[in-house]
Amino acid sequence: MLRIAIQKSGRLSEKSNALLKECGIQVENGNKKLKAQARNFPLEVMYLRDDDIPQYVADGVVDVGILGENGILEKEKAVEVIQPLGFAKCRLSLAVSKEVNYTGIQYFEGRKIATSYPKILKRHLDKLGVNAEVEEISGSVEIAPSIGLADGVFDIVSTGSTLMTNGLKEVETLMRSQAVMIATPNLSEERQLILEKLLFRIKAVKSADQNKYILLNAPNSAVEEICNILPGMKSPTILPLAREGWSSIHSVVKEDEFWEVIDNLQGYGAEGILVVPIEKMII
Ligand code: ATP
Ligand code: MG
Repeated sequence: MLRIAIQKSGRLSEKSNALLKECGIQVENGNKKLKAQARNFPLEVMYLRDDDIPQYVADGVVDVGILGENGILEKEKAVEVIQPLGFAKCRLSLAVSKEVNYTGIQYFEGRKIATSYPKILKRHLDKLGVNAEVEEISGSVEIAPSIGLADGVFDIVSTGSTLMTNGLKEVETLMRSQAVMIATPNLSEERQLILEKLLFRIKAVKSADQNKYILLNAPNSAVEEICNILPGMKSPTILPLAREGWSSIHSVVKEDEFWEVIDNLQGYGAEGILVVPIEKMII
């Protein structure tokens, strides 16, 4: 049995649960219990506050956990990051009142910054050679400047709208973060095997998210060029169309190369291009 810790409720919980589900793992947690066992996979899920997950994983109370990279860097525990998960993407930034005439990081010299991430902030300030006072507060950091608690804040930003509503502007991004899976350093062989199975499924789900299945019709004269720009997993599938001189080409294309590929395909006379999501992809 592998024990995994995920956030009980918050920004990470929905996507963490969804990931397990997409991996085909059924966990029933009707009454929001602290612990639940998967029905069809040797996995026990513990629902915790994200702040506690690094400690639990480092102590081996749970084997693996899902949380934001920022949470791990703040706690400085002995855990291993084993897999980026691509959700809960955010940045950790310094912000000041929008009235401030900000000219550079030296603005913070001798000033006070409120944050829930004092360790990450101090490390960055040291590296940047800035001496600032770091005021640790556990929530609602963004109101600190308006109530006179601090000159600036260091906090999580995704769209920047929270900062804006509080009269703040983002002035420096110090790090970027996403959800990752962490593991305890000394996993037993039995649990290591279960973890490998889980990671195999996670990778299949993630690859599927990053790729699309593409189908198109093309004149036979263009098939070779099109195959060159659509390499697929091994090579594209080519099927003859009922109409003489035309073929249907099927392949897989990376999400981030997608629009460029489409432009090129049209240039070669491709028609009837269909793009379909992939549910799982085993490479
Ligand atoms: P808990 O009650 O478990 O301690 P929390 O209030 O500390 O929760 P959340 O706000 O749920 O934490 O955020 C958890 C993690 O999600 C953060 O550490 C960060 O990695 C990520 N995160 C937070 N806010 C955002 C956002 N707006 N966009 C994307 N990711 C975010
Ligand atoms: Mg927390």
